[in-house]
Amino acid sequence: MPSRVALRQANPSTMSAHRWHLALMVLLVAHAHCPAGLTATTLTGPTMGTRWTVKFTDQLPPERSVASLRQAIVHRLDEINTQMSTYLESSEVTKFNAAARGKWFGVSRSTAEVVTRALEIGATTGGAFDITVGPLVRLWNFGTDGGVAVAKNITLPDERAITSALAQVGQQRLLVQTNPPALKKAVCGLEVDLSAIAKGFATDQVGQLLQEEGLNHFLVEIGGEVVARGQPASDRLWQIAIESPPEAKRRLHKVVPLENSALATSGDYRNFFVHEGKHYSHIIDPQTGRPVGHKLATVSVLHKSCLYADAFATGLLVMGDHKGVAWATKNNIAALFLVRSGDRIQEQVTPAWKQATQAPLKKRDSSQ
Ligand code: AMP
Ligand code: MG
Repeated sequence: MPSRVALRQANPSTMSAHRWHLALMVLLVAHAHCPAGLTATTLTGPTMGTRWTVKFTDQLPPERSVASLRQAIVHRLDEINTQMSTYLESSEVTKFNAAARGKWFGVSRSTAEVVTRALEIGATTGGAFDITVGPLVRLWNFGTDGGVAVAKNITLPDERAITSALAQVGQQRLLVQTNPPALKKAVCGLEVDLSAIAKGFATDQVGQLLQEEGLNHFLVEIGGEVVARGQPASDRLWQIAIESPPEAKRRLHKVVPLENSALATSGDYRNFFVHEGKHYSHIIDPQTGRPVGHKLATVSVLHKSCLYADAFATGLLVMGDHKGVAWATKNNIAALFLVRSGDRIQEQVTPAWKQATQAPLKKRDSSQ
């Protein structure tokens, strides 16, 4: 049965420059299908401005109740939020963003780990993925104070404002150390924005928690990023639906089987505004300082880690279809690109995607 799709749209008729905000995430992705007749336990709740969902088909160990498992999940997610959110004033990242330059700022091991991975991914993607884009995100009205409320008064930033924000952006200006875990900024005004990677990390973390609880057959989803382990039944794999971009005729693009893998998607229409007929997405190209504006509508990435899938999906969306497909193919990344072509949507996939989605079904051990 399809899971819920969160969608909030502003009414375009009431706006001169209208902004459509797709309530933090999920226009595409993630309907988890459970075979008919199968008993799955489903838990869900709010987190990171979206929802988390866990489905599992194993029996819980006798000492664990569903309520206490739920509490453990909520606790872990709250912890990650207080470390990495840019929406919480008291989070580590928000405090670091307000801190002075040139001094080490102590953070949790998790934050230092996510920043370390993000800087590695930033380097491999040639700067397409960059967690220091915060000043540009705000400049283009996608910051924490942005939203439908400001849509009527959008004025686009001028060249000078973009150049001045770019002076505070660039991951080479951000330093991280893990022992003790700390961050340092080399320029005043540098910020960390983990929005394109923290959900993937959190999804991995919930998956790890479930495995530590002895669960082997589950699905975790946070705002469209998914981790699947095992199988829902002996003759089935978990099935994840990837939705088409809104302009496509079909709502469902395709269903992807997942086994012991993660899937993340980045879309240029999840959070955007339209100004004088032009579409401005919340994904910023750190080289130009401007929202990406090409034909690539969404990128989905399959990876063993949801953190990497999340970050690569964003980085590939910045690269665009030509460069992105070539880069993902060269780096053996399993990626699916949905590209606008007139009034149609064209699919492009990398060889690694083809291989990963054609894996033969292995029988689940019925004793598990
Ligand atoms: P996602 O939906 O995972 O692609 O993440 C998008 C969010 O990441 C945006 O709302 C921004 O806060 C941030 N972001 C935008 N552009 C970039 C970029 N080039 N690299 C890293 N994060 C970005
Ligand atoms: Mg991402």
